[in-house]
Amino acid sequence: MTSILVTNDDGVHSAGLLRLAEVLEALGEVTVVAPDREKSASSHALTLHRPVRIRGFEARRFMVDGTPSDCVYLGALQVLERKPDLVVSGINHGSNIGDDVTYSGTIAAAFEGTILGIPSFAISLAGADMSDFTAAAMVAELIAGKILADRLPRDTLLNVNVPADEIKGLRCTRQGRRIYDETVHRGVDPRGNEYYWIGSGEVPHMDQGPDTDYMAVREGFVSVTPLHLDLTHYESLELMSRDWGADLESSLLRLTSRSI
Ligand code: MN
Repeated sequence: MTSILVTNDDGVHSAGLLRLAEVLEALGEVTVVAPDREKSASSHALTLHRPVRIRGFEARRFMVDGTPSDCVYLGALQVLERKPDLVVSGINHGSNIGDDVTYSGTIAAAFEGTILGIPSFAISLAGADMSDFTAAAMVAELIAGKILADRLPRDTLLNVNVPADEIKGLRCTRQGRRIYDETVHRGVDPRGNEYYWIGSGEVPHMDQGPDTDYMAVREGFVSVTPLHLDLTHYESLELMSRDWGADLESSLLRLTSRSI
């Protein structure tokens, strides 16, 4: 039987995860292994320096006092008897577009699945209104079915964002760029100590390229962005090996020969 591991970064009781687990039951046996609390923006952290606890609370439902990546790692290698056929992370409460990709715990969980050799995707509901996950759950089921039937290219995961308003269609997109407002709020706590708050809470500006994840969602389309595990930028590799690399190497060799 097809085995599907479901996780998220919003916590095991969040509405998006419950809806996702429910809808994927149509495709196989779903096991939820998710953080016991909100772990958004935890990126790809693994807990290595303290013990991690797994607590089962219903049939095939487990909470972990760790990160989304811990959940996928432990879910695939400990909770389940064999690696699952698919890892699905979400449905995140809020979009994961542009540079969010590098901060997102939701997407990191899908990266972790990919590292373990399991087809994986992340799915997020993009918008302010988080009251209705119906459409996003339907998209999740569709994409899960497609991946189980057709697989994914090697070392590749999908980052899916579903607009919260009416859906006009689906676009395959590239990752956009966030234009940061670079805000730090400084305050003083009741005990007279300074604290800092990162970000303004305002909606960030985005690179408005027509082929980006951001534009797809803004125009009412489901955005599907393939992401690759190998972060090497191959164009730059060529350029760097040609120019930089030779320069750096000759300087290095001068320094090392002098120090001998
Ligand atoms: Mn989240």
